Amino acid sequence: MNHKPRPSLKLNLSVRFHVEEWLSSSITNLITCDAADFIAEDYHYLSPEVIQLIWQTRSQVQRHRQALACQSYRVRHDTIQCPTYSHLACESSWDTAWKAVMLFTLRPTNPDNGQRTLERLRSVSIPATKPGCRSNTMLDVQADGCLTRDEFIIAEGISAVIQAVRSNGITVPVE
Ligand SMILES: [Zn+2]
Repeated sequence: MNHKPRPSLKLNLSVRFHVEEWLSSSITNLITCDAADFIAEDYHYLSPEVIQLIWQTRSQVQRHRQALACQSYRVRHDTIQCPTYSHLACESSWDTAWKAVMLFTLRPTNPDNGQRTLERLRSVSIPATKPGCRSNTMLDVQADGCLTRDEFIIAEGISAVIQAVRSNGITVPVE
């Protein structure tokens, strides 16, 4: 039996009793928890408006992460280390690693953020990709910000929920 209070209850109490330190963390948990973790009780603690905002953010994160897993980032070859004839092997190795990392860490409900995924991508073995091509491409991925965009989506979702509960409360009181 799990005695940890549900994030929906924590959010409800946090709004009603002004427990500021629970606010962001409980919303983050609601956004990143497994969809199967939602139970009837949660719908009792949260207003329809808050539930709507949470599902909306979840689906934005999910779409963003699925898009990343489907589409590998283009390799920028190092012209000295990687002659044209080795491009194919270099790219294929990179694509395999990219997909493996994305599928592992970017499950829509994985609480790990894009920053951790970036670190994992930096540390996995990508045998046939030349070191110069790999570091060029990592620089491009980092500059592009595609992996860390999920943090912004989640942050925006959190502030939308905070704004909603500050204006309209959480509606269903727990007794
Ligand atoms: Zn290359």
